[in-house]
This record gives sequence, C-alpha cells and structure tokens, in this order.
Amino acid sequence: MAIPLKQAAHVGAYIAKQRLTHTQRYPLTLMLEPLYRCNLACAGCGKIQHADEILKAQLTPEQCWAAADECGAPVVAIPGGEPLMHPQIDRIVQGLIARGKFVYLCTNAILLTHKLDIFEPSPYLTFSVHMDGVRQDHDDSVCREGVYDVAVDAIKQAKARGFRVTTNSTFFLGADPGRVRQMFDEMMAIGVDGLMVSPGYAYEKAPDQEHFLQREQTKELFREILQDPPDSWSFNHSTLFLDFLKGEVEYDCTPWGMPCYSVLGWQRPCYLLDEGYTHTFQELMDETQWDNYGPRSGNPKCQQCMVHSGFEASAVIDASSNIGAGLRTLRKALV
Ligand code: SF4
Repeated sequence: MAIPLKQAAHVGAYIAKQRLTHTQRYPLTLMLEPLYRCNLACAGCGKIQHADEILKAQLTPEQCWAAADECGAPVVAIPGGEPLMHPQIDRIVQGLIARGKFVYLCTNAILLTHKLDIFEPSPYLTFSVHMDGVRQDHDDSVCREGVYDVAVDAIKQAKARGFRVTTNSTFFLGADPGRVRQMFDEMMAIGVDGLMVSPGYAYEKAPDQEHFLQREQTKELFREILQDPPDSWSFNHSTLFLDFLKGEVEYDCTPWGMPCYSVLGWQRPCYLLDEGYTHTFQELMDETQWDNYGPRSGNPKCQQCMVHSGFEASAVIDASSNIGAGLRTLRKALV
C-alpha cells in the first residue's frame, strides 16, 4: 500500500468528522495551481494555452496558505504549470506542511535535481513526477527528447536524499499496455514509493484532440494494464479507484472532492471544466449547481470522463463509509 499510514489515518479521521457533523459535500484534496507557466508544452495539456498576462501571473505564498485554510482539505496537490518555476515554491510548501497538509508537488522533474536543496524530506511532502511511459513514449508525450532520462535521474537523486517520490501518469488513446507495464516495472526498480494513474481528459484547449479516451476504451486499457499486477507494483490510490478504472465498480463524480484554486480563483466545477471562477471556496460550494455535473447528471461534457480528480474522491469516500467496500479495500491491501 503506497499511501502512507499516517496520511490514510489522517484522511480517515477527517472523513469521519465530516460524517459526524453531517456535512454533505467536503473536499479531500485541494488542487493548488500557483502558476500556469511551464517549461514544457505537452500536446495533451490544457493549462498553458492561457493568455500571456495569465501565464505571467502567480499566487503568493500567503494566497496559497489562505486557500488551504479556507478549503480545509487534508491533502494539497500542487500541479500547474510547472510549480518548481515558482520562485517561492519552497515557502509555499513549508507553509502548507506547517498547517499539517500532506503535499504532493507535481513536477516534470526538469528542475527537480537543482531544486532539491530548497526542500527538506518530510512524511508530509511527496514529489509526484510526471511519467507517461517508457523512454520514447514519455518523450513523445511531453514533446521533447531527453526528458525521460532527466526525470529518472531526478527521481534517483531525490530518493537518495530521503524524499518520498511517486510517479504520475496520464494515458491516452493508443497507449500500449505492455509498454505501460514495463514503465511501471522501471519506476518501481528505481525506488519510487508509488504509482499514480489517470486516463487523459478532453481538455477543450489541448492541442491534441484526437487521442482522448472514451469510457469503454478507458476500462479496456486499464483492464489490460492492471491485469495480474506483480507484487512489486505499489499504487498511490484507493484500490477502489483502480477497480473503477477497470469497470469493476461504478461511481458518479465527486467534483467538489478535489477543488482547484489558481491565479484565476476557485475553478467551477472541477479541475477540468472551465465554467467560471469564484472568489471564495464558500461561494464555489454554495453557488455551483453540482447536480449538473458527473455522468449521472446527463451532462454531455461528463459522459466520457473517468479522471482521477473527479472519481478518486468517490472511491475514497465509499471505502470510508461503506463496510463492504472498506473490507474489499483491506482484503486487496493484504493479499
Ligand atoms: S465528470 Fe469529469 S468533467 Fe464532469 S465534473 Fe466530474 S471531473 Fe469534471
């Protein structure tokens, strides 16, 4: 089980508290985007197509901490853009850890080796390194030769210095299950603590619109990728989310489970769709018509979506609230 026990216990206690107070909707992970700038231009990314003035903007550490305080989620993921390009990323991370947040700093790892000195290893800090495939597949995915080797070297150096590292992989139409499995083997062999996966989502702004997966294609791909997983693989996910990707369990989306805050404000309704922004988290929760989102709503934009940021919260809440689902998770964690 790749999710550290301390984090699992903390999140479990947080969910129990929400249930005791009869809170219907609550966040599990804040997706904090302190900037949209990036040092890559991946074909499947919908974040770097913003106007220049937005790409130049960045959140201050104080804005990041205020968002974390307001939202209250126990986990903070920091995607972007490339967060290591933020000149105060170390202060941002320190302040979040000081608040008891479990921080996942998502990075393409191009700058990671040079930035390791500004961070301290901590059970509250994980570098989540973008890794979409074996060497050629990854370099094709990020549209630049040599990035796989840079990332592998950075992972090894981070691990040697005591940091917690996971990989973070997004798969698109045409992904080869055998080569994905090979990449998982390679990553576990160099010592990553866990693997994270998601099907790619059809960002309207992404340059490549032809390789996003439909729902049935997603299930077929993940059934092949995850068939008879070797003991050496460790996933930084709820096992129920992996079951969901394989089509063995159905969930509706929990878009408020991973709210997104960026230089534009709180993004409505989720990390992927861009239907306006609110100034405060409370406004996001109170004023969003949540019933209009998720596959069961009938919203055509949600019909093919199975992404991590929409559905992992559904799986985690299910495992924590439903004895049968919780036992299934425990049984899978023990075998
Ligand atoms: S189903 Fe996907 S696109 Fe729709 S609200 Fe959920 S995460 Fe967003």
